[in-house]
Amino acid sequence: MRLIFLAPPGAGKETQAKYVEKEYKIPHISTGDIFREALARETPLGREAKAFMDRGELVPDELVLKIVGERLQQNDSKDGWILDGFPRNQEQAIALDKMLEEMNQVDYKVIYLDVQDEVLIERLAGRFQEKGRKDDKPEVVPNRLKVYKEQTAPLIDLYSGRNQLIFINGNQAVEVVALEIQSALKPEASDYPNSKKVKKPKKVEM
Ligand code: AMP
Repeated sequence: MRLIFLAPPGAGKETQAKYVEKEYKIPHISTGDIFREALARETPLGREAKAFMDRGELVPDELVLKIVGERLQQNDSKDGWILDGFPRNQEQAIALDKMLEEMNQVDYKVIYLDVQDEVLIERLAGRFQEKGRKDDKPEVVPNRLKVYKEQTAPLIDLYSGRNQLIFINGNQAVEVVALEIQSALKPEASDYPNSKKVKKPKKVEM
């Protein structure tokens, strides 16, 4: 099982990725978590990423690609992985495909969690209260959503056009979302049941 979680901030990627990790026993690789850990340990990577993260901007591709490349080479990623928060733009998507081709791992699926802006804003406000993450601050959230829409959302069409996308309604309760993901990942769900709900795929120049 090789899986990418693609979704706006606050959509529940992490929670859902953790369920899948438990069920399939494959590593959950969250680039956000890797950066937060580096930041907490004040490593050079953390120091470099900090200003971008605090503003809700994407960390430069070269840093992200390096850590993902290294992580995917580790032994535990040989038989499967879940990427959470990567790729986040076209350049990263292209670089990932290149890496996977070299590793003979080209078959993967993409779970897209569709969540309305109002729901995201409410959830991020709750998470800020609870965890105090700087980038969940109400004044940073609009920029994170803008960055998502401009840079990450175009990947929906890319993966949908290649028939890799599994569309999940992420506005629902956590348990319902988890069940829908579980059934979409079953081997017999060969034709991704909800992929048709995605609006007409646009051709993406790559
Ligand atoms: P996340 O926890 O996935 O929302 O990530 C938190 C922050 O880490 C993002 O707002 C970015 O600043 C940075 N980040 C995580 N993943 C990536 C990525 N693939 N590309 C660039 N920046 C990233």
